[in-house]
Amino acid sequence: MDKRQKPRSKIPTWPSISRATASSTAERDEKAHHGKFATAINCMDGRVQLPVINWLRENLSVDYVDMITEPGPDKILAEGTAISVNKHGSDTILVAAHDDCAGNPVARAQHEMHVRQSVIRIRSWNLPVKRIFGAWIGEDWKVEIIEASQN
Ligand SMILES: [Zn+2]
Repeated sequence: MDKRQKPRSKIPTWPSISRATASSTAERDEKAHHGKFATAINCMDGRVQLPVINWLRENLSVDYVDMITEPGPDKILAEGTAISVNKHGSDTILVAAHDDCAGNPVARAQHEMHVRQSVIRIRSWNLPVKRIFGAWIGEDWKVEIIEASQN
């Protein structure tokens, strides 16, 4: 008899079960939008993905990095071509150029000029971001900030 009564005694807990389900859904919803995002406009070259992601995570405590990849993005931006930036609540945009780039095979000085022009271009889009970084990734695959703009 006792064993049969136990399941019955659980009936009053029904509302709390549905409350728990509701709150865990809300929690999941919150998690989906939680975390700090940055957007990186980077070369499609596989060698430069992790250096950029790691730099943003280590230096800006970013949780997630939205990657926009193009071959030689500094050249594309410097030439005035628009790149679609789908903002994901990120307050930082970083544009990077790198050594040995097949998409923009120019010397470092030219890359640096393209990166600076890219930062100016991105700034002109008036995106609601706090800062725009221009970076150079050398043959050691280390990210070097060469331009920083506060919006
Ligand atoms: Zn490249």
